[in-house]
Amino acid sequence: MFAIQPTSYGGRGCFASCDIPRGTLVHIASTPFTSVIFRDFRKEVCAYCLAYDLGRTWKVRLRGPETAGMWFCSEECRDRWVKEEDPSRELVPVLEVIEQAVALARRKLQNSKVTEYDEDFVHDDFTFQTEAIESLWKHIDSLVMSTSEIDNPLRNPALKNRVLALEDIEYDSARLVAVAIVRLYLESHNTAIVPWFSWNGFADLESHESDLINRLSALLESHIRVFVFLKAVMPHKFQPFVTIANVRAVLGREAANAFGIWQLPLSSESECLGSSIFPSGSYFNHSCDPNLIKTRIGREMHFTTSRAVREGEEICISYGMMVTMPVQARQDLLQEQWYFRCGCERCMAELGSEA
Ligand SMILES: [Zn+2]
Ligand SMILES: [Zn+2]
Repeated sequence: MFAIQPTSYGGRGCFASCDIPRGTLVHIASTPFTSVIFRDFRKEVCAYCLAYDLGRTWKVRLRGPETAGMWFCSEECRDRWVKEEDPSRELVPVLEVIEQAVALARRKLQNSKVTEYDEDFVHDDFTFQTEAIESLWKHIDSLVMSTSEIDNPLRNPALKNRVLALEDIEYDSARLVAVAIVRLYLESHNTAIVPWFSWNGFADLESHESDLINRLSALLESHIRVFVFLKAVMPHKFQPFVTIANVRAVLGREAANAFGIWQLPLSSESECLGSSIFPSGSYFNHSCDPNLIKTRIGREMHFTTSRAVREGEEICISYGMMVTMPVQARQDLLQEQWYFRCGCERCMAELGSEA
């Protein structure tokens, strides 16, 4: 119904390959490449269907001793999650070790036994220039090299003082990265039929890492902490994939490509409960006069035309709730959160009439 093609303004977009009537479901993005329910909400949001019931804690956990930091609204949701997201049973142990490591490190920090590195990785006088950032990452790489041979870091005395007590936002990022790394591992071993999109499909998305660090420089420290943490805790067989390049690839692509998991029904009061990356859904560009609406139905993102679309016309969604905002506010928001100046027809017309 549509094809991905280069746009006249740069990058790619989705173009209708025939006339499409209003109200047509043109795409469903189902299982995300990677996703996370934010730590604050993880007990309250079903890890499968994403149901959120005004802060009520769901009761169903995984079968067995591992909980992997997930709660489910029903046994059916739990079983479907296992079947669809972790058929090879590689993901749960990884998520579980993250849970345990974070809890352990936080406990130790509370008891004021030193568990952190002595000082921040990013010093106060750091200059946030590209070169400085690259050489800092190189330094970090040499720092963690010695830990890569360890099978279960939680039991290794040498590492006891080196597991970081991640902040909540870093924990969220660590889960997001870990899921992507397990996908990459499975893909490279062909141990499971991977019904999701390939790492290459994911890596094809644009990275906004430098925009992100420019806007929020504190995130560089966070990204490094996530890498150092995963290097310390990811089981041995995944270690070849826990590279700085891969960690940066995921965190750089999460920015501006992820879909927020918003509390439904959607309103200006909705809480953002988590974040999902659906590479297929990320090819829709933004317009302030969109012809496509994205709706979350359970865990799926549905993309439906909001008016008739002509053959050859670009199909666009609105990235946020901004269509009722004045033009300058939209421009500022898109620049701040999605790192581009909107050149849609509506913006051009409205900016032109203001000038
Ligand atoms: Zn559910
Ligand atoms: Zn616009």
